[in-house]
Amino acid sequence: MSLVLLQVPVWRDNYAYLLAQGTDAVLVDSPEAGPIEAALADRGWTLRAILNTHHHGDHVGSNEDLVAHTGCRVYGPAHDRDRIPGLTHPATVGATVEVIGLSFRVLDVHAHTRGHICYALDTPVDEVWRWGHDGTATRVARLEQRPLLFVGDSLFLGGCGRLFEGDAADLTAVMATYRAESPEALVCCAHEYTGSNFRFAESVSAGVPAVGERRAQLDEERAASGSSVPDTLGRELSTNPFLLAFEDGPRAHYASALGCAPEVTTVLGALREAKDNF
Ligand SMILES: [Zn+2]
Ligand SMILES: [Zn+2]
Repeated sequence: MSLVLLQVPVWRDNYAYLLAQGTDAVLVDSPEAGPIEAALADRGWTLRAILNTHHHGDHVGSNEDLVAHTGCRVYGPAHDRDRIPGLTHPATVGATVEVIGLSFRVLDVHAHTRGHICYALDTPVDEVWRWGHDGTATRVARLEQRPLLFVGDSLFLGGCGRLFEGDAADLTAVMATYRAESPEALVCCAHEYTGSNFRFAESVSAGVPAVGERRAQLDEERAASGSSVPDTLGRELSTNPFLLAFEDGPRAHYASALGCAPEVTTVLGALREAKDNF
């Protein structure tokens, strides 16, 4: 049975993800039921479970509608269960979620919110479809046969989520967690923020040419699908300032660009603050 990842554009700039093995599907985050149910019907898939990364409304907003229509399970962070509507299966950090014959590792990536988790799937995916708000569903061969990281709002291409309930030390732990994952993995993040992230990244990365080079390629890359997401963690490691800041050369560059001490947590905090005000 082949394993298929389909990105679904929802709300303004959100992405939900359907992952199907045969005709059984799981959904990662549920901003809006209509487009998700249309995609399920179009593919002939049956929704078995929702995997929620964190409690924000644009990630859990259609849990109850989808449960009412399909009877699916709802997974979410056990330590934040009270904020996940319709939760039936609490997911514990360090444990695995077993559903539709797949095993997802549950990673603690709290910083954007105090309950944020990531679902990591080590099984390589056979088909990957990007589908943006201004484009059509497009299969992207170079992204296939790779493991997956469903990162929600904890990591974006070229950036990271705002620190609503965490601090720079939490953000450092999150980025260290991702740096320990396989660079082959796909970063399946929940918003198309890549353009604005790389405009900011380029503004502080004069000493890191790969960042500007990637920004220059973005329009062309998004042309068919309308989406720049997902992409590989390896590509993020060489172009995302929040991951690059762990390396001595880029960190020294960011510290001098931002006028702060060249210490990882200090630099990450300064980068996040500069992006908030960009
Ligand atoms: Zn969020
Ligand atoms: Zn969000």
